[in-house]
Amino acid sequence: MRFATIANGPRRGLAVMHGSDLHVIYEDETGWRGDLLHLLQQGADVLLSAGRRVADAPAVAEGAVRYLPVLPNPGKIICVGLNYADHSRESGFKQPDHPTLFARFNSSLIGHRTPIVRPLASDTLDYEGEIAAIIGTGGRHIPRSSALAHVAGYALFNDASVREYQHRTPQWTLGKNFDGTGAFGPLFVTADELPGGLRGLRLETRLNGNVVQSASTDDLVFDVATLVSVISEAITLSPGDVIVTGTPSGVGHAREPRLYMHQGDICEVSVEGLGLLSNPIVDEQAIAETLLAEAIA
Ligand code: MG
Repeated sequence: MRFATIANGPRRGLAVMHGSDLHVIYEDETGWRGDLLHLLQQGADVLLSAGRRVADAPAVAEGAVRYLPVLPNPGKIICVGLNYADHSRESGFKQPDHPTLFARFNSSLIGHRTPIVRPLASDTLDYEGEIAAIIGTGGRHIPRSSALAHVAGYALFNDASVREYQHRTPQWTLGKNFDGTGAFGPLFVTADELPGGLRGLRLETRLNGNVVQSASTDDLVFDVATLVSVISEAITLSPGDVIVTGTPSGVGHAREPRLYMHQGDICEVSVEGLGLLSNPIVDEQAIAETLLAEAIA
């Protein structure tokens, strides 16, 4: 099943994509508490029956809705760095023996078609096409052999990074958490619709239509099962927690000349079966000026 979290004017709702139709139940409808995080917390059966109910609701014009981050408020977002060997190499890192983990905060998340913000502070905004695994059943000390049973499904992610800030210190947190840089969605696709452990899928990132990243998920150094297992050695994973699995080679920072994202660019991430995540790039300055113009008008 393929879920989305959308807004239509002032109303927020849960959507199910059925074919190319988007069916929606809004949060203000009587008796419905259907946000995706809440449903994940209730377990797979509740999620499935809610999805069936949404699929029976009226369809809306897909172009009329605004996509929100597919999970707007996950409890944890744990990102994996250096998880494709060719990306580690292009970035000048020795391939680590253990997953390189860092955190993102919800405040950085945006939805499909929402602008990724090129901040006032730096012009080194870069793309990172990735796949996010979303936890369904929580736990601690999860063995690798049963780890995939804890994953409810997957979504696309663009881990857009401000390289200047990322590399100021050995810790990457600041450069990975600028507002408007974590594009997430548009769809949450349940694991049963994808190959086990995400094997054999092609991940592609395009900037203004040019392919800048193209890799197979088979090239993940630490696969999804390993990530779930290793993270849960230390941290209790909960329903709705997000593990962003890392980006392949081809990032703009490793190119000569460097290829950063600027106002007017369009960045797309796609994986077969997971859809297409597309975001324009807008300068923070332009957003501020638009808001000012609206306030004056
Ligand atoms: Mg990344």
